[in-house]
Amino acid sequence: MMNVGFVGVGAMGNHMAGHCIKSGKFKDVYAYDLSKAAVNAMVKKGAKASGSLKHLGGICDVIIIMVGYDDQVRQVVSDLAKSKPKKGTVLVITATSHPDMILEAAAIAKKGGLSRAVILGHILAHEIGHLLLGRGSHSGSGIMHVPWDKLQLRRASEGRLLFTSPQAKQIRDQVLRRYRG
Ligand SMILES: [Zn+2]
Repeated sequence: MMNVGFVGVGAMGNHMAGHCIKSGKFKDVYAYDLSKAAVNAMVKKGAKASGSLKHLGGICDVIIIMVGYDDQVRQVVSDLAKSKPKKGTVLVITATSHPDMILEAAAIAKKGGLSRAVILGHILAHEIGHLLLGRGSHSGSGIMHVPWDKLQLRRASEGRLLFTSPQAKQIRDQVLRRYRG
């Protein structure tokens, strides 16, 4: 079983980390945040506290980075890259950064031995999928499949975790309907 770590367990991160704990799919769920209160709230839900990015990077197989700004993304990835990460650690960056920032983060991660770099906004795409596809929109394959196991994470890192063609059509139709609204 994998360890998953969250950098940033604020408004969005604490719910996602909570889902990971409830799923029972992970060995341990680690929480790191500059706010002690945010970390303590996660510990109450069953997470383990991580005191530093160096610690987090050394023990987690998947690290989900939910910070707000490019400077923070850069800082977090640089610190993680110095942490003697496990081989094949996956970084998931959910900040709404410019793609150039993600490429820069991937380069930093690679230098530090984080061999499988970076996943763009797949989680956000999944959630937007829910908004536009309506109820019951999880599917047997693609980006709307749950849960995300190693297969989905690998496909995401290769740019191959996509909506199915019927989903893509439905999303286009929904967007057009709203646009014409
Ligand atoms: Zn979902």
